[in-house]
Amino acid sequence: MTVVTRFAPSPTGRLHVGNIRTALHNFLFARKHGGTFILRIDDTDRERSTAEFDQAIRDDLAWMGLNPDKVVRQSERFDLYEREFDRLKAVGRVYACYETPEELDLRRKVLLGRGLPPVYERKPADAPVPEGRAPHWRFKLDHDAPIVWNDLIRGEQRFDPKLLSDPVVRREDGSWLYLLPSVIDDVDLGITHVVRGEDHVSNSAAQIQMFEALGAEPPQFAHEALLVAAEGKLSKRLGSYGAEHLRAEGVEPMAMLSVLARIGTSQPVEAATTLAELAAGFDFATFGRAPAHFDSHEVELVNARLLHKLDFAAVADRLPSGATEQDWLLLRPNLERVSDFAGWYAIVDGDIEPPELSHEERLFAKDAAGVAEQLDWDAEPWKVLTAELKESTGRKGRDLFHPLRLALTGKDSGPEMAGLLQRIGRERAIARLEAAARR
Ligand code: GLU
Repeated sequence: MTVVTRFAPSPTGRLHVGNIRTALHNFLFARKHGGTFILRIDDTDRERSTAEFDQAIRDDLAWMGLNPDKVVRQSERFDLYEREFDRLKAVGRVYACYETPEELDLRRKVLLGRGLPPVYERKPADAPVPEGRAPHWRFKLDHDAPIVWNDLIRGEQRFDPKLLSDPVVRREDGSWLYLLPSVIDDVDLGITHVVRGEDHVSNSAAQIQMFEALGAEPPQFAHEALLVAAEGKLSKRLGSYGAEHLRAEGVEPMAMLSVLARIGTSQPVEAATTLAELAAGFDFATFGRAPAHFDSHEVELVNARLLHKLDFAAVADRLPSGATEQDWLLLRPNLERVSDFAGWYAIVDGDIEPPELSHEERLFAKDAAGVAEQLDWDAEPWKVLTAELKESTGRKGRDLFHPLRLALTGKDSGPEMAGLLQRIGRERAIARLEAAARR
């Protein structure tokens, strides 16, 4: 069997981390099994769907490298829905209903008041049809046997169809609700695995019967536990936190995806540089049933770990012109964002503000400038410079290294000095030591 998955967002807003996680899991599962990943734009709601959100969803997925093998739009498939709907109508699996929302609401309250489940009650076949009122349409659930499936994450799921209401699939005005078109598309597109949030579990129960009514084998289901914000200010806006924030904050998509691939599973979060790495370890069997905790701080930490191993080629087009692979390797251990590079690059390749040093430190910088003049700059200048200064001044440890770092870089801390000094070079280093001594 060739795996076919789909990610089915509605273009009524931007993607947020929850949607991105679902998209990622569909993508990784398909990739791992050499299958197909489809993007299905659920735009049956013509009023709330916009072309801008449709475009933004595709742009965000592209930015993250979650490229679909195929894109379909529900708004372009109404003929298919109509045909399948007619088929179900002909065999009595969809039927017309005439209740108003007020009538339904009242009936629900009566049932609840009597301690009964508020399940929709079918009318007898010969019930009178109210005049001048257009019907809406329900799918007729088969009450004969329990609905059972083996969910790839939740294990065996069992529903008694008598406790479910026949779902409305089409409104009075002919517009579609989500449930039936989704199944018609899943059949038509040969979807083998439906991967989505656990808020869809009871939908799946009804949809399994729709697959069967259409003469199709239901796909496998994987319902993932919901994503919740770990804590802090994100908790209120997790539902709006998405790719555009990460892009604006200069976070690598792979940092975000590395976190989203593994939170809520028994596998540790690792900074993966490619989606192929994440796909290789992807396994529904490792997914837990408890909500997955999303922490934007974790994304930042993973981002730094990722940068520390990213190749020059992966970032070259985002670095200041002139920066070389050696510069990247020298400076990357100190970066949290790629944009931090420019600041360090200016230090090795530009000018610095001379630091404020104490009187003793200024004298020490003067000594250092003198030693630097005599150094063989082709042979480990930092090692020799510090060894000689240790010998001549008696300074050691922080007293030895810290003023030199300050004088040479203008910074309190940073990448290792041996590499930095070599890159800063003889002329610039001597000039900086002299400037620090004068200040
Ligand atoms: N458009 C639906 C949603 O966003 C799709 C659900 C599904 O994956 O079937 O909830």
